[in-house]
Parts: sequence; structure tokens; C-alpha cells
Amino acid sequence: MIPVNSPVESAVVDGQTFYIKRDDLLHRDFSGNKARKLYYLLNQDLSQFDKIIGFGSPQANSLHSLAVLAKMRKIPLDYYVGHVPSILQSSPAGNYQAALANGANIIAAGEMISQGKTLEDYVVKQILPKHQKALFVPEGGRYQDAAIGVNQLADEIIIWLADKGIKALNVFLPAGTGTTALFLQKRFVTKHVNVKVLTCACVGGDGYLKKQFHQLEPNEKYHPTIINDGRKYHFGKLYEGFYQVWLSLKQQTKIEFDMLYDPQGWIVLREYRKNRDVCEPVMYVHQGGILGNETMLPRYERKFAGKL
Ligand SMILES: *Cc1c(COP(=O)(O)O)cnc(C)c1O
Repeated sequence: MIPVNSPVESAVVDGQTFYIKRDDLLHRDFSGNKARKLYYLLNQDLSQFDKIIGFGSPQANSLHSLAVLAKMRKIPLDYYVGHVPSILQSSPAGNYQAALANGANIIAAGEMISQGKTLEDYVVKQILPKHQKALFVPEGGRYQDAAIGVNQLADEIIIWLADKGIKALNVFLPAGTGTTALFLQKRFVTKHVNVKVLTCACVGGDGYLKKQFHQLEPNEKYHPTIINDGRKYHFGKLYEGFYQVWLSLKQQTKIEFDMLYDPQGWIVLREYRKNRDVCEPVMYVHQGGILGNETMLPRYERKFAGKL
């Protein structure tokens, strides 16, 4: 039941060789880093909780994974969102649909959030106090015990390195909350292996990501290296270049990547490699999220139909 040990493949992208850690293959419902971050909860006795409470985007991969976890444990999930886009309401798809199918109670809190407050403020201050026996899972699985599953990912990479006789490695993965990248780098430093974790900020910019790192771990020696290509991207926005990269990756590697994080990740990584001599091999961690493409792909096709 516990999803562990994903394969590593090698692929050539635009003439350069990459290792790809296929965490997308871990499990149908717990793919990618959500499987890693929820690993702790998947192996915990949750019987003292009468409810799971989460919040975030109605299209989030973590919504789907939490819904499956809740269903498995027969605990109701209340998941708070700002609002559900009308197109999603009228024709549910992707993570939203999968969460509904698994019995998630998705609550639109938009109207209830007071001026100047965030969805998180609302959930933490107004909802949690009313549910003393609830298990609260912060947005995107950003909690300390996420480290337990991410350590497992790091250890798989360490064993793989030893197996291959590789002495130094760059590991790249795009970040949302940065939880996966941070705990990965921390594990490599703690285990004294020569692995540098590179990441890019897909949500909220480099400064925001740095802040997120600090909230989980004050000591910067454990922090990943944030790289960028000098451009500012907005999370969830459609970029023609993203679609082209996504398609080209699919053609070259025969692997489907996610359309929210991975296109930016590959663009930033390509720039990084172009601008310096990276002698160490590079491993790209495929963090899943493919189900989200069900809603992203039609949006891309509507927007760029005929142009691409
Ligand atoms: C959740 C997610 C991320 C972001 O992970 P963090 O640990 O929040 O940085 C990246 N890629 C995919 C595909 C995801 O589902």
C-alpha cells in the first residue's frame, strides 16, 4: 500500500542527458510529491480524528490526495476553497472531480472571508476552533512531518547514486510551497552526500519561497538553491512557451509532465545549464500532477487554438 521507490530513467532533452526520477509513477491517487508529503499520515493511526480539514485551490493535486486518504480512513474531509470556477462547477474535471468522487466536502468560503484576510486566516481562526478533534493539513501539505516521506525520496536517490558510483549530483524540482525541495536538501546535507538541490519559485516569486523555507527550517545551510531565468511568471497563467515546452518534452521523452509547474521548471533549468558549465549529472524529479492536465489542456487549447 505504501508507495515507495520510484524508478529512475534517463532521457535526452534538447541534446542534453537528464535522469528523471519518476515519482509520478508511485500510485494512481497519491502521485508525486503529494505521496511523499502525505506518507506520514498514510502510515499513521488517525482514529482519534473525526474530520480532516484542508484548504487551497479546487484544482490542487493535494485536494485529490487528501480526499482519497480521508475516504480510505472513513473520515470526512472538509476542504475550503475561495470559490469554484463556474466552468468547473458545470463540468467537474481533473482533481476537483476526483475529489468529489471520493466524497470530499468542498466548501466555497469566498463570501465568508473578511476584507484583507486570506483563506488560511479564515480556516485557522474561524473553522479550526470549532472542530477540536479535526486533523488540520496545511495547504499543499506544508507541515513538518512531510519530511518523513521526503526523506524516503532522498534515501532512494542516495542508494541509486551509490549503485551508479556517481559522486556528485544536481537535483532539480520546481517548487510551490518549497516543502519537498527543502526537506530533500536538508536530508542530503544531513547525510553528507554531495547533492545540490536546485529549485525555482512557481508560486509567488523567489523572496516568497525563501520565506517559506525559513518557516520550515531557519538554518540556511539546509536550504535549496533558488534559480530563475530573470522572468516573472504567474502561477496558473497560460504561457504559449509553457505549452510548447510541455509538448516538446512529451515528444522527446515520451513522458507526460504537469502543465503548472514543470514547464517553468524545464525552462529555468535549461537557462541555468546554458549559462554555466554544469559538470555534475542532473536529475529532474517528476512530481506527478498529471490529473491536473485534464483541466489545463483544454484551457490551453481554447486560448491558443490554431496558433500552435
Ligand atoms: C504540489 C506540487 C508541486 C509543489 O510542491 P511543493 O512541495 O509545495 O513545493 C510541484 N509539482 C507538482 C506536480 C505538484 O503537484
